[in-house]
Amino acid sequence: MTKIVLASGNPGKLKEFGALLADSGFNVVPQGQLGIEDVEETGLTFVENALLKARHASRISGLPALADDSGLCVDHLGGAPGLYSARYSGNHGDAAANNAKLLHALEGVPQEQRGAFFICVLVLLRHAEDPAPLIAEARWHGRILGEGRGTGGFGYNPVFLPDGYAQSVAEMDDALKNRLSHRGQALVLLRERLRELHAG
Ligand code: IMP
Repeated sequence: MTKIVLASGNPGKLKEFGALLADSGFNVVPQGQLGIEDVEETGLTFVENALLKARHASRISGLPALADDSGLCVDHLGGAPGLYSARYSGNHGDAAANNAKLLHALEGVPQEQRGAFFICVLVLLRHAEDPAPLIAEARWHGRILGEGRGTGGFGYNPVFLPDGYAQSVAEMDDALKNRLSHRGQALVLLRERLRELHAG
């Protein structure tokens, strides 16, 4: 099995990646287990930040590295919270405060103007100097509810209603979320790219 380091310390994401990569042939080691700390996310786009995270983890571990950068982009807010999704309210990772700020920002905005999408960019670097990383991006479209519903998962799950579903993400079971989500779909794409490379 190929050992790769996962450049994320977010427990919600670690759980999802673990499930999504369970049968992938990769032995995925979270960077925390190797004593690697988070790098500063100084990029201006999701793909830049994913590259920064993967390169940092690969450089320190000497292993191939998988990193993601993800967030929520709300149409009415010009794409905010975007890159700042984890710290929208000022406190990194305070989901309750982030959701409260978002609902407040959209107070009085009618349903049809509450469109939003989750985005996930995945980067796989074979080594820290890899000039040709594998990159996969996926988006999950929906809209922001008037108030939060459900308790599952993390982040903005309670306030996001995916298109075509009557449940918020926090009301979905893990298997359904993993199949539909931006992260799940980006992983499907990344695995296709890996298969193509190995076949080619
Ligand atoms: P990152 O760790 O820099 O990628 O920050 C991503 C942030 O976006 C998370 O802390 C969440 O606030 C939000 N986010 C990303 N993916 C999801 C998801 O699947 N559900 C809920 N919130 C998410």
